[in-house]
Amino acid sequence: MTTSPPPGAARVLVVEDDAPTRAYVTRALQRAGYTVASEAAAAPALATLDEAPWSALLVDIGLPGASGFDLVREARRRRPEVPIALMTADASVEVAVRALRSEVDDFLTKPISPEDLVAQVGRLVALRRTRTTTPVERVLAIGAHPDDVEIGVGGVLAGHQDAGDDITLLTLSHGQRGGDRAARAAEAERAAALLGATLRLGDLEDTLIPESGPTLDLIEATVADVDPTIVYTHTVNDLHQDHRNVHRASMVAARGVPSVYCYESPSATVDFRPVRFMPIDRMVERKLALIAAYDSQAAVRSYLAPDLVRATSRYWGRYGSRDVDHCEPLEVVRERPAGSRAGDALLTTTPQQETSDATA
Ligand SMILES: [Zn+2]
Repeated sequence: MTTSPPPGAARVLVVEDDAPTRAYVTRALQRAGYTVASEAAAAPALATLDEAPWSALLVDIGLPGASGFDLVREARRRRPEVPIALMTADASVEVAVRALRSEVDDFLTKPISPEDLVAQVGRLVALRRTRTTTPVERVLAIGAHPDDVEIGVGGVLAGHQDAGDDITLLTLSHGQRGGDRAARAAEAERAAALLGATLRLGDLEDTLIPESGPTLDLIEATVADVDPTIVYTHTVNDLHQDHRNVHRASMVAARGVPSVYCYESPSATVDFRPVRFMPIDRMVERKLALIAAYDSQAAVRSYLAPDLVRATSRYWGRYGSRDVDHCEPLEVVRERPAGSRAGDALLTTTPQQETSDATA
């Protein structure tokens, strides 16, 4: 039997309803130097999964309530980087096929000796190290009209795309007042495709988007589906009533989201007070390409002019660090503490410069 590599501080979460088996597995892994937490059911296991970074997850197939497969599916969605092994006493072909389909990384057949258990968990932990060191963020960018999020955070979203993050764009209206419905929807799809993002296009009435009711319903439903770790939405400091109302509805719907930021629109007022300046030098051309996807608008909307978009990010670049030329500015509603998850990399590289009365 090969000995597993020193596991260091590797943390293993064991989900097993049978108490003697749970104690056995926990003890064997603790003796091998692992930090182990255990749960007897799916719901508390998901809560524990959310609490800390894990190196491996062991799941018994026959959990009470939700099955092990249900837990695996949900754990995959929440923490795609964590390797998962299914534990079962049933080594049938059918179970093996289901396990493969649900994309588990390994399969532990009970009863299992402590040596084999430790060796298999060692392989899972090694697998975890090969996976991206930056956990994937789930990003939700909310805008009242097609092109709002691309103008506000197009560069930041391109950065999320590079990081492998999961991006959803929620656009609450087709922006009918600004042109043909179908054409604008097609443009929004084209921009989303460039970002590798999922587009949700609502059907609220342009210029009459309310603060609650259908606006809140749509954003809440999307937040429930996407379970975002980061939300970008309109600032309230904006002349356009649709933008203000989307901001307010977002504040309610995203109340449980760890990080919430507000972006600038062309109609933002001088009261827009950003404190985050996201460097987008590498992303300026891609931002312009996103905006160019809205070519039916470019002719009639002067705020989409590439020189203005470029000049705006160049202007905000003066608040960034010295080696940065272009930034997108963000107001911070709420921010997950830096370092609580490695996915903060995008944000922690941002200079946290105070806005001060700098002399010209
Ligand atoms: Zn708008």
